[in-house]
Amino acid sequence: VLNYASVHPPVHLLRYTVVQDISAVVRALEQGVKKADVDPAVKAVVICGTNGTFSAGADIRGFSSIQAGDRPSLASVIDLIERSEKPVVAAIEGMALGGALEVALGCHYRVAHAQAWVGLPEVTLGLLPGAGGTQRLPRLIGVPAALDLITTGKHVLAAEALKLGIIDEIMEENTIDAAIHLANKVSGQPLNSRRLSLKQVQSLPNMDAILSEALVKVKKQARGCLSPEMCVQAVKASVQLPFTEGIRKERELFNLLLSSGQAKALQYVFFAQRAAQKWTTSSGASWKTASAQPIRKVAVIGLGTMGRGIVTSLVKAKMSVVALEQDQKQLEVGARAVTSLLEREASKMPWIGQRPDACDPALLQFTLDFSVLQDADLVIEAVFEDMALKKEIFHKLSAICKPGSFLCTNTSALDIDEIASATSRPHQVIGTHFFSPAHVMKLVEIIHGRHTSPITIATAMGLAKTIGKIGVVVGNCFGFVGNRMMAPYAEQAVFLLEEGCKPKEVDQALEGFGFNLGPFRMLDLAGLDVGWRSRKGQGLTGPKLAPGTPARLRGRRRYSPLPDLLCENGRYGQKTGRGWYQYEKPGARIANPDPWLHNFLIRYRDAHHIKARFIDEEEILERCLYTLINEGFQILDDGIASDPEDIDVIYIYGYGWPKHRGGPMFYASTIGLPRILAKLQKYSEAHPDIPRMQPSAFLKKLVFLGNPPLKEWMSHAGHQSSKL
Ligand code: NAD
Repeated sequence: VLNYASVHPPVHLLRYTVVQDISAVVRALEQGVKKADVDPAVKAVVICGTNGTFSAGADIRGFSSIQAGDRPSLASVIDLIERSEKPVVAAIEGMALGGALEVALGCHYRVAHAQAWVGLPEVTLGLLPGAGGTQRLPRLIGVPAALDLITTGKHVLAAEALKLGIIDEIMEENTIDAAIHLANKVSGQPLNSRRLSLKQVQSLPNMDAILSEALVKVKKQARGCLSPEMCVQAVKASVQLPFTEGIRKERELFNLLLSSGQAKALQYVFFAQRAAQKWTTSSGASWKTASAQPIRKVAVIGLGTMGRGIVTSLVKAKMSVVALEQDQKQLEVGARAVTSLLEREASKMPWIGQRPDACDPALLQFTLDFSVLQDADLVIEAVFEDMALKKEIFHKLSAICKPGSFLCTNTSALDIDEIASATSRPHQVIGTHFFSPAHVMKLVEIIHGRHTSPITIATAMGLAKTIGKIGVVVGNCFGFVGNRMMAPYAEQAVFLLEEGCKPKEVDQALEGFGFNLGPFRMLDLAGLDVGWRSRKGQGLTGPKLAPGTPARLRGRRRYSPLPDLLCENGRYGQKTGRGWYQYEKPGARIANPDPWLHNFLIRYRDAHHIKARFIDEEEILERCLYTLINEGFQILDDGIASDPEDIDVIYIYGYGWPKHRGGPMFYASTIGLPRILAKLQKYSEAHPDIPRMQPSAFLKKLVFLGNPPLKEWMSHAGHQSSKL
C-alpha cells in the first residue's frame, strides 16, 4: 500500500497506492508520517501516488468508503501531516480528488503535473469533503473560489488550480523530482505560515452577502438535494468559527448527510449509470460478446425539434453529418436552427470554425437528395411520428444505403419491428430515442426489435457514448420504458384535475418532490398536439372514435377528454401561448395560471356531474408516482428493461427525476414495496375503472417474498435476465 522509501535522502518519499481498502492506505500514511517524524535522518517528506496518479478518485468504491467510516481517521492523519515539524510536499500527478485533495491540503506545499486535475466531488455524491476540506480550502483560496469548487464538485486542471492558489508549482514532467527538489529547498524553514489550519480566512467586506447568496443559489438549483446546502454551511463555519470548531461543524454536517439517505441514492445512481453500459437482452445478447462497428458518417432525416438537436450533438462530437429535409423551405429553417445551436458552442469546436454555416461540407452537409445518404455508416430518422411515413422512409433507406449501414429511428413509441419490416435488413434496424432538447439531454433509449443484431445494439450504444450521451438498452413495446411509464403518470395528473385540482397544485406537488417540471408544465413545453395526434392515431379521439362512445370511458377504462378539448380549442401549450397555463406570447416560457382554464374545468365538472373535492399533496404524489412505479414493475416482469437500475437511469437522465431520490425503482425500494402495494390497492379500489392502478403481479410477488432488496428483484422476475 505504501512504500517508505529513502530513495533521495534526506527527503523521504511516501508513495502510496490507493486500493479498495482505503483504511489500509490511511493507516499506512499515518505510519509513514510518524516514522519520518522520528527518524533524525529525514529532513523532509514527499507524498505521491503510484502509477502516475495521486488518487484513484475515479473509483467510487474507494471514494465512498473514504467518505464514510474512514473520514475521521483520514482527518486525523491529515492533522498529523500538517503538524509535522518536517516539510511535507504533495506531488500531484493524474488526479487529486476528494479525500486525496484533502491530504494534499494538509501538506505544506503542493506541486502538480500540468495535466493533473484536482477537485472535491463529494457534493455530487450527496456528501461534503469531511476530512477538513471545507475548512482548509477557504483558508487557502478564499471563500468565493472555495464555494464554487465545493458546492459544484467540479474538477480543475493544474493551471487553473495554480491560478486559484491551490497548488504552488506546475511541472511539465518529473513532478516527483520537482517535489523532492522543493522539499530539500524548504527543509529547515519555518512551517507555521504553510499550515492552513493556522491561517485566517481572508475577510471580505461583503462576506455575509456572498454566503447568503450562495445559499439561495444552491437551494434553488438543488431541488431538495441537501449536500450543496450543507457545503455552504460548512464553508460558512470556516468563516465564523475557529478551525477546530469548524472541523466539528463539518463533521456534524457530514454525519447529517450520511444519515439522510441521499448519499446512498446518489451513489446508487453513479453505479447504475455504469451498469447500464453492460447491457443484455432477454434473448441473451450482451455487451460482452458484441462489438460496435466504427461510425464516421451519420445521416439525420428531418430537422425538426429533434433532428436539429441530434445533428448538433453529432457535430459537437466531431462526426461527419449529412442532414436531410423534405423540401427547400424546411431545409433552410432546419439549417438555420442547427447553425444557431452550433454558433453558441463554436468556441468549443475549433474544427468547425467560427461560422458553422460555412464549415467544411465534409463535416456538415444539408441536402434534399436521398442518394447522398448512400455512404452513411448510420442513419437516424427523426420525421413526424407517423408509421406510414416512417415505413416509406425506411423502405427507401434500405434500397439506397450501403449494405453495412445501420438504420435508426427516433420514434417515441412506435413499433420498431413494424418499421424494420419495411426494409430488407431488419437486423440493422434499431430505435435510438433521444430526448428533447437533444443537444442537451443525456439519455438515449436504445430499442432493439425482434431481429436487431447484437452488433447493431453495440454500435448504437457506442454512438451514444461517442457523442457524450448515456445509452440504455430496452425492449420494444409501445412507449418503450420511459414513455410507457410516463403515460399512467400523466393520466393520473389529468384525472386529478377532473376530481378537483388545478394544474399548478399538481405541478407544485411534483416539483416539490424534486422534478424539474411538474406534468402540466412539461406537457405545455413538449406540445399538447403531440399526444393528441397519438391519441387520434390510436382511435381514442378524433374521426376514428366510434360514434356513441361515452366521453369519459374507452371500453371499460376511464378516459379524460380534457387534453383533447384543450387541443380542439387551439391550446397546444407554450408554442401557442396557451395550454394548461397561459403565456405572455406564443413561445414564451413563464407559465401563469389561466382563469379561463379554471372556469373551463368548473364547467367541465358540472357537465359531467363531478363534485370537486380537495385533494392533498400526499394523494397527488402517491397517485402520480406509484402508478408510474407500478408500470415499472410490469416492464421488469415483461423483460422490456433488464433491471431496475436501467429504469432509474432513464428517469434521471431523460425525465428530470430528482437524482438524490435515486430513480423511481430505487425510490420504491426506499419507501418499501408493501407500502406501495397497499396504496395502489387502496386507490385501485376507489377507482376500479383505472386498470393501470391495479398492482402489477410482479410487485405483489416481491411483497409476498418479503420485500427483497432491489439487487435481488430480477431473480424473481417472470422474464429473467441478468447482467452477470
Ligand atoms: P417535428 O415535427 O418537429 O419535425 C419533423 C421534421 O421531419 C420536420 O422538419 C419535417 O419537415 C421533417 N420531415 C417530414 N417528412 C419528411 C421526409 N419525408 N423527409 C425528410 N424530412 C421530413 O418532429 P419532432 O418533434 O422533431 O419529432 C421527430 C421524431 O422524434 C418523432 O418520431 C417524434 O415522436 C420523436 N420524438 C420527439 C420528441 C419531442 O420532444 N419532440 C422527443 C423524442 C422523440
